[in-house]
Amino acid sequence: MFKTILLAYDGSEHADHALAAAAALTKAFDSDLHIISIPEPNMPPVVLAPYGAIIDVPPSDEQVAAAGAKVTEQAREKLAAAGVTLSDSHVRRGDPVSNILQVVDATDADLIVMGRRGLGALKSLALGSVSQSVTQQVKIPCMTII
Ligand code: ATP
Ligand code: MG
Repeated sequence: MFKTILLAYDGSEHADHALAAAAALTKAFDSDLHIISIPEPNMPPVVLAPYGAIIDVPPSDEQVAAAGAKVTEQAREKLAAAGVTLSDSHVRRGDPVSNILQVVDATDADLIVMGRRGLGALKSLALGSVSQSVTQQVKIPCMTII
């Protein structure tokens, strides 16, 4: 059971709690552990009414890859401290939910571990939009860590 675990990691405190749980499960089940991170643009929590002249410059692929590599490296170090080695890491660009679902399929994961909340600022919500959509759509067990 739980041959391949996928940890969804956005670098948040919640994701660190998920990382600790994924590390413990990986050891307990002798699983392969994969990590996925999809760097997101630094958006204000509330989108203000648009003003006339807005330049919206998307980050380059290199910037996205560098941000993903950095957060993945941080996770790798924390996992190493817990005595766990990653089998593979996946840095993707775009919508977090569809990318997480694609990597579940690509890795044949049989458990996903993620935080209930992440980097988002609307702290009144019990679930973030990514954890909510993934738990609704994914066809494998999904553990959401507080
Ligand atoms: P929202 O993004 O809707 O404002 P939030 O950031 O508080 O809310 P989620 O984004 O749903 O909450 O995050 C819940 C968990 O989903 C995170 O702890 C992390 O495990 C995973 N996750 C969210 N976004 C990403 C991402 N971009 N890349 C990898 N994992 C992610
Ligand atoms: Mg989020």
